[in-house]
Parts: sequence; structure tokens; C-alpha cells
Amino acid sequence: MKPSFEKNKKPGKTGIITAVLCGAAFTLAACGKDDYRLVNSTDTAMGTIISQRIYVVSGNGLKEETDGKTDQEFAPDRDILNMIDTMETDELSWRIEGSEVYRINSQAGAPEGAALSSELSELLDICLDVSEASDGAFDITIGDVARLWNIDAWSSGGETGEYILPPPEAISEALDNTGYEKIDMENGRIFLPENMSIDLGAVGKGAALDRIEDYLENEPSVSGAVISVGGSVLTYGTKPDGASWNIGIVDPFDTSRNLGVVSLEGGWCISTSGDYERFVEVDGVRYHHIMDPESGYPADSGLHGVTVITESGALSDALSTACFVLGKERGLELAEKYGAEVLMVGDDGEITMTDGMTEIFNLSNQ
Ligand code: ADP
Ligand code: MG
Repeated sequence: MKPSFEKNKKPGKTGIITAVLCGAAFTLAACGKDDYRLVNSTDTAMGTIISQRIYVVSGNGLKEETDGKTDQEFAPDRDILNMIDTMETDELSWRIEGSEVYRINSQAGAPEGAALSSELSELLDICLDVSEASDGAFDITIGDVARLWNIDAWSSGGETGEYILPPPEAISEALDNTGYEKIDMENGRIFLPENMSIDLGAVGKGAALDRIEDYLENEPSVSGAVISVGGSVLTYGTKPDGASWNIGIVDPFDTSRNLGVVSLEGGWCISTSGDYERFVEVDGVRYHHIMDPESGYPADSGLHGVTVITESGALSDALSTACFVLGKERGLELAEKYGAEVLMVGDDGEITMTDGMTEIFNLSNQ
């Protein structure tokens, strides 16, 4: 039996009324607290922190389908961690030799193109759709520019050491190797122009959430979970007491605290992009890891942080990056195109939200 939860187009309309309680999914299990086991863990994968809170139906409630494992042997958090690691090494990393993205990049310019798995093809479809809808503000062909700035070497939370800015000529040369519209995909193959490289850093964490959700949907013993992969969070199923999942949104002005909390039922992905995540400071100017593909410089659209909620992790992750680059007005328009809920924090501290977001967001006490 699958954990049942209602997905609604707009989290704001009904997302706060998580009234499934012990719900139809657990008619076999009693509603008492003791019938659930909480699996809680924090690890590192995909170059970021993975934190998991998973409720497992325990004791008599454990479903036989869990590969014959006993209650205590069933460790969904370990399965999920392995899955994220494998996704990074086998599919998404631009830097790990042997990953699909690495192979595709090394075959750029080849007349026969490169073979594409159905999983990556699906993810690239989402990426290219958001590229088009955002007029190229989101662009996975940013690889060369990102390598030039060496953003992957910047530690999270900011760097203060020596850093030499890339010269403008080098930036404009790197920009020649970008442009999502130059990608061709047909018959299960992808064709990149010579010297172009794709970088899925902006969607990898969200894509991992989609894979995790598929896994959870096939684990009947998991009744509910909240799982974060860096700045992207998945809510799944229900809490034993039927309460909403509360997801903290980091205050971009003080990352040690939450700006507020969004309350959601299961089935949503929340992604946040901000200029405080990875950056270097040179002469008092902050250079961060979200690039404006038009200029080849870090985006400077007047935003400090953007949070996007959709049912798809890959989409919410792509949109959070795209909205960050586009800024307030154009970012809101983009989000509306996808029916996504958005919260944006401006450089001046102003908070802008879609209507649905105002219904589920609670600002922290200052
Ligand atoms: P994080 O990885 O911290 O969650 P984002 O999801 O916003 O942040 O993605 C930023 C990453 O995406 C960068 O590290 C880089 O690899 C890549 N990137 C930077 N700018 C863009 C862009 N405009 N479009 C697509 N990918 C980008
Ligand atoms: Mg993103």
C-alpha cells in the first residue's frame, strides 16, 4: 500500500490543511506514536549537506514488501544517500570521469553526438524549457564561464583569501562557448558544439529530490519524510500526528537564522538560491556562484535570495536559479508561467511573494 497524500496544484490553497491524520494509508497500523520509527541523519553528498527525517511504520505496521527486511534493518536514509552518490558519480558530475555529463562534454563537437540516457534526457528537457521561458537567464551551457570563475572551488559560506578576477577578454571568450539554443537533442543523442560544456549544478540537487520521491513512493513502510539536499527540500507523505511539514527559509542577511517557515503537506519541492551560498569577496565586492549568462559575471539583479516551490525538484531548482538571475519583476512572471510559488528577498531586505506563498509562509519573530 502506498502512503497516500494529496497533491494540489497550488500549495497555498490547501497545503496548510494537512488533515490526512493517520489516514487511509495506515488503516492496518494503529495511530499511536509507538507505531512509527523516526530515522534521522545528516551526511555529505553532492558536495553539500544531506539531512533526512524519515518516518517508518514500525512493528506490526512494517509492510512485507520491504524486501523481507526487519524493521531495524530497513534503513531508507542509507539507500537514499547511496542513490544521491551514484547519481552524482554516474550521471551528473561534470568533473568525475565516467559520469554521463563528463562523457557528453568530452564528445562535444563530435558529428555523431553523444548517447543520452532517458533520465538525463528528461532532465535536459526541463532545463531547456526553463532556458527558453527565461530568455536564457537559466542556461546549463554556462560550464565554460563557471570553470573560468572557478566557482566550484569556493567553499560554502564565502571565501576571503586571494582571488584574481578573470580578465574581461577571457570572459567574452568563454561566453562564445555558451548558448542553450545551440544544443540539439534527437533520437536519444545530444549534440553540443565543439568546446561547449554543460553544467547541471543548478538542477542536480532538485533532480535528486525527484529520484528520492520515486524511491519513497515504492517503499510502503515510509509514511512521511522531509529530506534536504543542500538548498533543495522535499516533503513527502504525512507526519504521524498529521501536522504540516515546516520548512525553514534561510535569512540571506544572517544565514545562521531562518527568515521564516513554510508549512506544506507532502509532495512538494522547495529550492532556494542565494548569493550567500558560495562566493568570494574582492575589494569589498561579492562575486557569487549564480552567473548572468548574458554578461558572464555573477548576476546582479537586486536579489539576495529566491525560494521556489513546485511539485518537481528539478523544476523548482532551475526556477530558483533563473528567478535569481532575472530579478523581481521578470522572476515573478517566470514563476507564474509555471504556476510556481515564489519568495524573493531583495538586496534592500524587501520580501516579495506570490499570493499562494503568503498563505503558507510565516515570518520569524525578529
Ligand atoms: P546551489 O548549487 O548553491 O544550490 P543554484 O541552484 O542556484 O545554487 O545553482 C548554482 C550553480 O549552477 C552554479 O554553481 C553553477 O554550477 C550553475 N550556474 C550558475 N549560473 C547559472 C545559470 N545562470 N544557469 C544555469 N546554471 C548556472
Ligand atoms: Mg537552482
